[in-house]
Amino acid sequence: MDEAERRARHERLREADHRHLWHPFTQMQDWLGEEPLIVDSADGVTLQDTLGNRYLDGVSSLWCNVHGHRVPEIDEAIRVQLGKVAHSTLLGLASTASIECAQAIAAVVPRGLTRVFFSDAGATAVEIALKMAFQHHQLRGDAERTEFVALRGGYHGDTIGAVSLGGIDLFHRIFKPLLFGVHHAPQPYCYRCPLAKTWPDCGMACADEVERVFEARRGKIAALVLEPVMQGADGMIAQPPGYVRRMRELCDRHGALLVCDEVATGFGRTGTMFAVEQEGVVPDILTMAKGITGGYLPLAATVTTERVFESFLGPFSEQRTFFHGHTYAGNPLACAAAAASIRLLRDRKVIEGLPAKIAALSRALAPALRMEHVGDVRQRGLMVGIELVRDRATKEEYPYALRAGHRVTLEARRRGAILRPLGNVVVLMPPLAMTAAELEGLAGIALASIEKVTASL
Ligand code: PMP
Repeated sequence: MDEAERRARHERLREADHRHLWHPFTQMQDWLGEEPLIVDSADGVTLQDTLGNRYLDGVSSLWCNVHGHRVPEIDEAIRVQLGKVAHSTLLGLASTASIECAQAIAAVVPRGLTRVFFSDAGATAVEIALKMAFQHHQLRGDAERTEFVALRGGYHGDTIGAVSLGGIDLFHRIFKPLLFGVHHAPQPYCYRCPLAKTWPDCGMACADEVERVFEARRGKIAALVLEPVMQGADGMIAQPPGYVRRMRELCDRHGALLVCDEVATGFGRTGTMFAVEQEGVVPDILTMAKGITGGYLPLAATVTTERVFESFLGPFSEQRTFFHGHTYAGNPLACAAAAASIRLLRDRKVIEGLPAKIAALSRALAPALRMEHVGDVRQRGLMVGIELVRDRATKEEYPYALRAGHRVTLEARRRGAILRPLGNVVVLMPPLAMTAAELEGLAGIALASIEKVTASL
């Protein structure tokens, strides 16, 4: 294709996008006035657009890519599965691919988590966790345990149950009349402590606040739901060490289930296969999606213990069945991709290789801490948030309408990297497959973009 054909094709696509698409989490009035970046193909950790420009995939195509794009082993696994069957249902039937995938998942989750319930998105995995926890207590005769505790700043997806749990005002407040009540406890956000305390002198006072909710609602809490180690969508809010362990103890003391949402943190993202491992915690329910297929196809799983599973067993007539299921649950193509991705994590010793990459990224980001408009750098594994501030001393935020984070990502694009901000937080979520040198390149682009943009704001 010559340059003129390339340009003409881009323009046709742009026009059709502007005519027919409604992009998620996007102010479409702005979108319609902007030149879209149209991804056309990819190779390894690099995306290519319709104009032939190449960019490092700095946010793993929305936090899900693991081994890079067009991985021969995953491509082949999907092709082999295509030669058998693309989709068959798990309602009343089993399938080879879903069985092998469930087995692969059970082998990598913390010990004690044995039962895999498939769905197709992070949000559905969380809805399932909610209903599973609720019904579990009902079936055990604990009819009063109907309430949920979650954290402010939490994000669990965009369906109504997940939004009820969510604690991000900007996204969730408009839907308030549609939501069920959830007890929201203060978030462990050390840089802007909601209790105005300082770690570690605080003795983790925010954890005491969660405990206070449990005490006030004694015998009524079905489950505590949280993103372990790092709350993602609120701006990469890293928890102090020991926090998840405290939450586990608290749930045990109060007879509630602990639901850990590892949709973002799972599959190596924070340096261990699952983030809860860093806290020596086994939740009662663990949700996963995003990285499960290596970032190839929509698949999610809600994984639980035999104890929860057994609550649902009984004679047909007792109606203890879990009445929940999605058409594409356990889709064979997605399951084949997931099994291949999990195999690659093992064969390529991906987790074992992470410490050196994590250290390289930390070193490359260290200069950010001296930058005039960087307030905080939060990193857990290859999950990073760089919080921009107008004033370092007072931690004054840039106004929402200024779109400081967005401007940085536009500058990064000009320099050859795709980033996506969360408000004033610049996020780096590179594929685990990035080499140390690529991670350094990505960090360099991020910091140079921050420097340039903040100097002009
Ligand atoms: N839980 C967490 C922790 C997430 O980060 C996300 C997505 N960012 C979700 C749930 C929702 O996942 P999905 O977009 O696949 O519904």
